[in-house]
Formats: sequence, C-alpha cells, structure tokens
Amino acid sequence: MDYEKRLQEIRSQIAQACSRVGRDPADVTIVAVTKYIDTAQTEAVVRAGLTDIGENRLQVALPKMEGMAPELQEQVRWHYIGSLQTKKVKDVLQRFDWIHSVDRSSLALEIQKRAASIGRPVPCLVQVNVSGEESKSGFAPEEVPSFLQEAQGLDFVDIRGFMTMAPASTNPEDARPVFRGLRELRDNMIAQGWLPASARELSMGMSGDYSVAVEEGATLVRLGSVLVK
Ligand SMILES: *Cc1c(COP(=O)(O)O)cnc(C)c1O
Repeated sequence: MDYEKRLQEIRSQIAQACSRVGRDPADVTIVAVTKYIDTAQTEAVVRAGLTDIGENRLQVALPKMEGMAPELQEQVRWHYIGSLQTKKVKDVLQRFDWIHSVDRSSLALEIQKRAASIGRPVPCLVQVNVSGEESKSGFAPEEVPSFLQEAQGLDFVDIRGFMTMAPASTNPEDARPVFRGLRELRDNMIAQGWLPASARELSMGMSGDYSVAVEEGATLVRLGSVLVK
C-alpha cells in the first residue's frame, strides 16, 4: 500500500473542505485508525507522516505498540477511540495518550483515580450521542452540562472537547446535522462557561464523511478504511 499517495489525496480533500468554509487545514489532525492493519503496515503509516494513531481495542493495539520499532513508536500519539471498560482503564492509561470515548461518569471517575496515581492528567473527549440512536454510546446532549460540572472537579481528566459517531449511511450529507450539532454543543458549553475556551476539539468524521465533518468544524478526523484499505 502506498500510504504517501493515499495521504496526499486525503490531505487534498481536507484542504478543499477547509477552503469551502474558510478554515485553516492546519487545524485538522488526521488520526489514522490502524485497527485493520498489522504492525508492519502501522509502521509504514507512521513513516508516511501520520503520527496520530487511533485504536479501538487494547488487545489489538498492544502487540503493535510492543512490536513497533522504538524510533517510530516514540513519534506516535496514541488515541483510544473505542468503548472502554472500567477495568481496562489502568492499562489503557499506561499506553495511550488521549481518550476520545468518555461516555459515562463512572468512566471519568476511574480515569481520574488511575491518572492521579500515575501523576499524568489525561487529555479526554466527551463522547456525545448526538443522533440519539439507541445503539450508540455517549451522553445525550442534555446530560452534557451536568457531566461537565462534575468533571470540573476531576483534575486529572483534562477535557479538551467532544467526540461523536454519525449514523451509518452511504450519503455523507446524512451526517451533517450530527456534526453540526456537536459543534453547536461545544460552542454553547464554552459560551455558558462549562468549558474553557481552549477546549475546542471535535473528533468527528470517518472515511465516508470526513469532508462534511471538516466543513462542520472537525479538528480530529478518525480515518481507517480510506487510508489503509
Ligand atoms: C473504525 C473506527 C473509525 C474508522 O472508521 P473508517 O470508516 O474505517 O474510517 C473511526 N472511529 C471509530 C470509533 C472506529 O471504531
């Protein structure tokens, strides 16, 4: 797989989406989701210049983290993007830099406890179920203010913004209201003082809909299949 070429195409799509809405492409980070590929391919992704890597399962990520060449491993910021069981928090914190999937209060409490014991505040995103689908995890938008209030007391849970999953669809426009909803939620939470103005991250958009997500303000796009398949 020629990751450089694939990456060039994706960067060009992102630049076009940014220019349509007057954004700076430097404000969009590609998180390469490597769950479909093995260690050697993941190394090739990092060599192509993608140093933000996302994985959704600890068991899949661990062998790659352990098998990767140390000089590549050193460059990587690891993003945990999947649903996270409370009992796995300790191990995830040892390996991952960011957690995108803080979807319940009990999880935030566990992150606080474990992060405090290792003395490292953890950058976290609050996962929001904007679409309201029952199959999706995340806080309902109306639950977010009280959660943020609670999180203000958790000094090792460093909330940097929000994450959402759009409904599965072949038409990327179907995702637009969901992405817009997450951006509006972020803006409201900052305006109302529940979050500092610096907590602006929006992790949204996957292979099928990342251009729309960028148009709606994504700062982190999580790309798996478009990059590596
Ligand atoms: C797999 C996965 C992605 C990437 O999905 P693609 O459609 O392959 O780009 C993004 N986010 C999460 C949470 C995932 O599990």
